[in-house]
Amino acid sequence: MRRTGIVLFLFAAVLALASCRHETRKPEGKMRHILEGRTTIYQGEESLDFKIVPIAGITSWDFHTHKGGSTNKRQLNAYSYLIRHPVHGNILIDLGYPAVTAKDPGEYPGFPASALMKIRMEKGGQISEKIKRHGLQPEEIDLILFTHLHIDHMGDIRSFPSSRILVHKTEWDAAMEKGRSHGYRPDYLQGLSPETFVFPEGSPCGPFERSLDLLGDGSIIAVPTPGHTLGHVSYFIHTGGQSFFLTGDTAWVEENFQVPVRKGWLPHRFVEADREAQQDSLDRIHRLYRNRADLLIVPCHDGKVLTDDRLKPYILQ
Ligand SMILES: [Zn+2]
Ligand SMILES: [Zn+2]
Repeated sequence: MRRTGIVLFLFAAVLALASCRHETRKPEGKMRHILEGRTTIYQGEESLDFKIVPIAGITSWDFHTHKGGSTNKRQLNAYSYLIRHPVHGNILIDLGYPAVTAKDPGEYPGFPASALMKIRMEKGGQISEKIKRHGLQPEEIDLILFTHLHIDHMGDIRSFPSSRILVHKTEWDAAMEKGRSHGYRPDYLQGLSPETFVFPEGSPCGPFERSLDLLGDGSIIAVPTPGHTLGHVSYFIHTGGQSFFLTGDTAWVEENFQVPVRKGWLPHRFVEADREAQQDSLDRIHRLYRNRADLLIVPCHDGKVLTDDRLKPYILQ
């Protein structure tokens, strides 16, 4: 019985990997260099280093994070993710809060949302400073990616003037068109012209209908998870030894994708850009959770990420 279970599990894993294969695409212009290649699971000779970097602690109530949550306080966090790739260099996914948050934690998200959470960020806690403690200068960051452009993920985007910035086109357009009431700061983005990408048709990956192998070597695969924002993106990271899935704000805490269960009433009602799409994206991540025991799924704001035994080795303070 047990052996049958293992065989079935291996069979399912092979099917899941096979379903992530991509057809050869012919990208145009400056996108070419990042889209070439079709291997999906990274198998480079040197494994790449993946780290989760906490940027700011957040205290809120459990019931805001997920429907049915308790009235207890809950510790959350905002994270940035650092990937050191042997070929493509240093990559950040999301930047966390900007420096101004250390001085004025209420600046973002602004009232009345600021009354629902208490943000604690140390001076110099922004990612551009934190990486310096680990011997990396902002100009050594080669590429910056985002799950979405809410300001607790966009951070001080201008602190990396020499980095390539690559954003899902739908998200960039939404951030420029919608204002502060939607969690964006288009004034921070004025004058920037990042490279944008779209998801090609016919590129399914696991439960997701489309995907994009950003570096062409299977190390970072973007999948669309619209709902929290219109152009929200989640990422598979394959280091060569371990696979991760970064949910972005599709899942704030583990309950969101494990149960699965939506966020609390207030954020569900007033933060999600498209509640139906958000539920659909969450259901897809839940399917991943049920079917891919090998995958470490990393929720975007859960304080438990810091104490989870499986994730602890990947935390960079
Ligand atoms: Zn968000
Ligand atoms: Zn967020």
